[in-house]
Amino acid sequence: LLYDIIILGAGVAGLNATFLASRKGLKTLTIESLEEPGGQLTTLYAEKQIYNFPGMTIFKAKNAVNALKEQVLSIGAQINYNETAVKIFKEEDFFIVKTNKSQYQTKRIILALGKGSFIPREIGIDNEADLSEYISYLPGKIINQKNKKIAILGGGDSAVDWALHMCEENNISIIHRRAKLRAEQLSISQLEENKKIYKYIDYSVVSILKEDKSLMIKLKNNNTAEEFSEKYDHVFVNYGFTTKLEILNQTDFEFERKRQRIIVNGEYETSQTGIYAIGDLAEYNGKIDNILSALNDANHCINNIAKKILKSSGIY
Ligand SMILES: Cc1cc2nc3c(=O)[nH]c(=O)nc-3n(C[C@H](O)[C@H](O)[C@H](O)COP(=O)(O)OP(=O)(O)OC[C@H]3O[C@@H](n4cnc5c(N)ncnc54)[C@H](O)[C@@H]3O)c2cc1C
Repeated sequence: LLYDIIILGAGVAGLNATFLASRKGLKTLTIESLEEPGGQLTTLYAEKQIYNFPGMTIFKAKNAVNALKEQVLSIGAQINYNETAVKIFKEEDFFIVKTNKSQYQTKRIILALGKGSFIPREIGIDNEADLSEYISYLPGKIINQKNKKIAILGGGDSAVDWALHMCEENNISIIHRRAKLRAEQLSISQLEENKKIYKYIDYSVVSILKEDKSLMIKLKNNNTAEEFSEKYDHVFVNYGFTTKLEILNQTDFEFERKRQRIIVNGEYETSQTGIYAIGDLAEYNGKIDNILSALNDANHCINNIAKKILKSSGIY
């Protein structure tokens, strides 16, 4: 199967490109390393209000992602989640995208990789990988849970926001390893006033063990060194993410770069013919790193590609 376009990354830039390309009837595949779309909006600030979206006043990042996701689903576009692109190279007249699961042939590639793939900061316990069924680093798996006892680890904006958001339907504990929360003051006040959420501030996780279908979490009070264990159904880790743009070192091509970004021309094409870059990864004069700019990059890029395809088939 030879695709017209393979889009790497399903952040807002990649999602919009997927939607627009599919609408134009281009054979498109999108590859996303996370289990859900939205990139930075999903991983870094899902509950944050967006104030710079024209015509929208009360609007959270997750709402923007859900709206884009619905649009993409409605058109039947193909997005492969939990799949990471690891190498791109050229073979005869087309490109090969190699992932951790498979490899695909395409006429063009759109790089919508943002700041790179997100790697969650882990709890750091030895048996963490064995407990993967019970530990989440993104909200996707647990967001619609009800009547569960969930330990939210972390003390930044996302930990506090998710605790406030999930406490209506679940029994929530927030466990923070430092003495002070590092969230917006308004959210901290809401958390402090919330009687439903158990707060273990300045407590460390000593160990997590599987017990039947639950987890036994041993906590230590950092002030008194007192230890005790509690049973939970699930752990939601909010220690943040690091990013890695490794794939740009795994190609046969030298892209014209400005630090971590790829320079594109007026058509969003990189110095390598047939490979495009959009969103936070793309660099051009007057570039702004925001949602609208990422959506707009996708719009221009797909239009330019569609024009070329139609021209080569004699339609334009
Ligand atoms: C804390 C914070 C708050 C912000 N607030 C606002 C705001 O209020 N308003 C606003 O307009 N902008 C805001 N921004 C900026 C905005 O979020 C970004 O400009 C936008 O998300 C860029 O989207 P993108 O699609 O280019 O990249 P990303 O969102 O980074 O998406 C890139 C995607 O590519 C995937 N990926 C990476 N490598 C691979 C690989 N090898 N294989 C497969 N998939 C891969 C990643 O998993 C990710 O999903 C904010 C940014 C931050 C960090």
